[in-house]
Amino acid sequence: MKVLSTSIFLIFFYFTNVSAVEITGYPLKNIAKNTYVIQGPLEYPSKKNKGFMNNPGFVVTKTGVVVIDPGSSVQVGRMVLKKIKTITKKPVTHVLNTHIHGDHWLGNQAFAEAFPNVVIMAHPEMIKHAKAGAAEQWVSLMSKSTEGATNGTRAVIPNKSINDKQILKAGGVEFRIYAPEKAHSFTDIMINVVEEDVVFLGDNVLYKRLPRMDDATFKGNAKACQIALDLAAKTYVPGHGASGGKEIVIPFMNYLNTIYAEVSKHYEAGMTDFEMKPKILLKLQKYFKWSGFNDEVGKHISLAVLEYERDSF
Ligand SMILES: [Zn+2]
Repeated sequence: MKVLSTSIFLIFFYFTNVSAVEITGYPLKNIAKNTYVIQGPLEYPSKKNKGFMNNPGFVVTKTGVVVIDPGSSVQVGRMVLKKIKTITKKPVTHVLNTHIHGDHWLGNQAFAEAFPNVVIMAHPEMIKHAKAGAAEQWVSLMSKSTEGATNGTRAVIPNKSINDKQILKAGGVEFRIYAPEKAHSFTDIMINVVEEDVVFLGDNVLYKRLPRMDDATFKGNAKACQIALDLAAKTYVPGHGASGGKEIVIPFMNYLNTIYAEVSKHYEAGMTDFEMKPKILLKLQKYFKWSGFNDEVGKHISLAVLEYERDSF
């Protein structure tokens, strides 16, 4: 009996705790006529930020709303939905996920619950990896790193694939898809919202934050930046950090190109990654204040060495 009452208490505690988690304090930014972004914090997921760390966006069309990357948890997804309701009563017709990393798409659940017919789209490789176990890994990683703030979140995997050069037309708005190869995660799409002159970059570009490059290649990612720049859009939305013009894309592309070029040069001179690090740091002073710099830069040099070895042999 005691065991039963304890477990009832725990279940009650769990559910009240889940519903108590609410994400507040992030303003909605109107970045183009009908396009909005909520800029998340730059840090890694934590108890403090409750896992919220990306830039969820949405576009209001004639007939509905298209959401891009609704965040890391059902709680973040609900926050995004609440913001949408302050702008329009139209239903959400589509959700687009830029890639496999869970901080961008576990918020899908909030939209699947509110709009059972919503079409959720991503790169076919994203869907494949999510189904093969990445989805569950991300759910548990988010829960662990936020000490349970994302609990109650379940992975709603996209139900339709979309790939390079495909176009989604929704409510009179054209969403052109660019899927650069071997870029940030091998599952990436970038979305050009043509009428709004906006490009959602996913994590192919971050602003004032360094990425994890563990699933990326420096050359492929820099190429993705160039594809985005070639679109000459008025507004770019990075995966993390402020939105803006091409000045959002260029520093990140320069960072990737600098690391790869420097690593190639010092590798050819016979240096190990450990020996070349102080020399490369001299070229990266502009990035010292970027979030995650100290955690990531050493790893980036080692990863670029491996990539250069793969490319050269
Ligand atoms: Zn990512």
